[in-house]
Amino acid sequence: MLYSLIANAYEKIEATTKRLEMTDYLVELIKNTPKHIIDKVVYLTIGELYPPFEGVELGIAEKLAIHAISSVTGKTEKAILDDYQNTGDLGTTVEKFITKKTQATFFRQPLTVEGVYDTFAKIARSTGGGAQETKIRLLSSLLNDASPKEAKYIIRMITGRLRIGIADMTVLDALAVAYGGGKKFREEIERAYNLTSDLGYVAKTVAEEGLGAVEHFKIAVGKPIRPMLAERLSSSQEILAKMGGKGVAEYKYDGLRLQAHISPKSIQLYSRRIENLTDQFPDVVRALREAIVAKEAIVEGEAVGVDPDTGEMLPFQMVSHRRGRKYEIESTAKEIPITLFLFDALYVNGKDYTMEQYPERRRELQKIVKPTDHVKIAEQIITSDPSKLDEYMDQAIADGCEGLMVKDLGPESFYTAGARQFKWIKYKREYKSEMADAVDLVVVGAFAGRGRRAGSYGALLMAAYDHESDMFKTVCKLGSGFTDEDLANMPKMFAQYKIPHVHARIDSKIKADVWFVPTVVLEVIGAELTLSPSHTTGWNAIKKGAGLAIRFPRFTGNWRKDRAPEDATTVDEIIKMYNRQLKKIEVEPKIA
Ligand code: ATP
Repeated sequence: MLYSLIANAYEKIEATTKRLEMTDYLVELIKNTPKHIIDKVVYLTIGELYPPFEGVELGIAEKLAIHAISSVTGKTEKAILDDYQNTGDLGTTVEKFITKKTQATFFRQPLTVEGVYDTFAKIARSTGGGAQETKIRLLSSLLNDASPKEAKYIIRMITGRLRIGIADMTVLDALAVAYGGGKKFREEIERAYNLTSDLGYVAKTVAEEGLGAVEHFKIAVGKPIRPMLAERLSSSQEILAKMGGKGVAEYKYDGLRLQAHISPKSIQLYSRRIENLTDQFPDVVRALREAIVAKEAIVEGEAVGVDPDTGEMLPFQMVSHRRGRKYEIESTAKEIPITLFLFDALYVNGKDYTMEQYPERRRELQKIVKPTDHVKIAEQIITSDPSKLDEYMDQAIADGCEGLMVKDLGPESFYTAGARQFKWIKYKREYKSEMADAVDLVVVGAFAGRGRRAGSYGALLMAAYDHESDMFKTVCKLGSGFTDEDLANMPKMFAQYKIPHVHARIDSKIKADVWFVPTVVLEVIGAELTLSPSHTTGWNAIKKGAGLAIRFPRFTGNWRKDRAPEDATTVDEIIKMYNRQLKKIEVEPKIA
């Protein structure tokens, strides 16, 4: 398959401002792809080479890419850098500089998808002495055979900035249309994806074996399962009512969620976002080896930092120091030891437990764990009494937890991979006041600053994620809570996401001065939610002709680097927060 087919499709996808057209172009690309390489085309389109949980990084340093561009185009590295500083995108720069004349046309071979993919894979895997030279040589050979347009996407891909804004859900939609004949097949395909977290594998199975094959998808050790998620409510009565009167209240530990895949040969740890964190937590791997008595298992828990002197649980920030580290892993593990509080068992010795009720999964968990200082089972009580729940909440908070996670124990209490339902409900203390809970919002645009902020941005346009339509809907303009340093750096920091028109997945009535590919997630807190004629979150949901907006939004200082834009707070959650707030105002009228 010619790589130009991919480059043409990306160009069309990038140019459209309509979400539907975006899917259409992707469907066309999928249909034009021979079945045996559909996995590769899918990985490339989401900017990856393999499923992300394998942890193979393609990204090469811009410096190396500039070196390769210089050697192919004959331009100096300084000229390339100068142009790049203007465009903010090395892809655009290379597209401009590569011309037929600059290349050794005599030897030019049309690029194939297989060839480009294999070269990327070699680049990703070359390590050790001489790796830099090898990477430059391989990249130069690709650029030498590439048309300007192809070179643009090769450079973007290789520097980790493909920025066409296609996410997993967009691919699932397109697969359903291409192979199933319509979006109604999306649910089945999504289920297969939720059980394996591997879009390429799902695409290839559907392409080669048909839709029927996804029905038989099974979970397996080594293929992370998309985590079950929780809804939130703010009163113990409401929570128990949702659970049919009775529920399991568990401590809600404030740490890092880990899914451990255990086999006799290895233990792998995956994050909530399915990244492979095994290398960062060798102490957790050792602790699990000691505590788990099953031969094979998939278990889930929350990793919490503990004070080595007192054994008390530490705030979340401490465990996050352990994440993303490449050096001093063992010494940091000594400074911030971890206890893993296990709360679920999904697979044990060949048996899939995801379709078992929660009490049965917990029983199995207790059977296979021999608790130690570093691996424990989550504390819980079963109750039907709201006042007991509140008491237990106080106890959990006093013990250093964030609150409770209340879980269904009825006949439907399966492990629903990738879904947020009322089978698990978060109960955190902050919900007792209006909008005291922060939300995670996506930066979709910006407005030029004035006065003290001249030359930078005065405010950012923020959006919530709408799972249903796979769009980002605006909910506020955010201008406060930033440090002077944040403000000064912002234009430079966001340059890489800048696009000349509104992105096809953004739904906005407001015209920003600058638009971005939805990428960066920030934590925002506000005073309350109000109806708004200008924001699109919850449009027509509460009142016809109105959406919802956050009043007095403020950045909390938390750049949620661990969040994908699709993990941001959803439009549905904001509508629910608004409804709860209304109820509260009715029940507890403000005293003047
Ligand atoms: P999410 O999108 O995961 O709900 P959030 O930040 O909005 O993220 P959290 O406040 O992190 O929600 O609550 C959910 C998280 O609580 C779970 O993903 C898990 O990491 C953690 N957790 C702690 N204790 C438990 C428990 N006993 N059972 C389930 N999850 C728990």
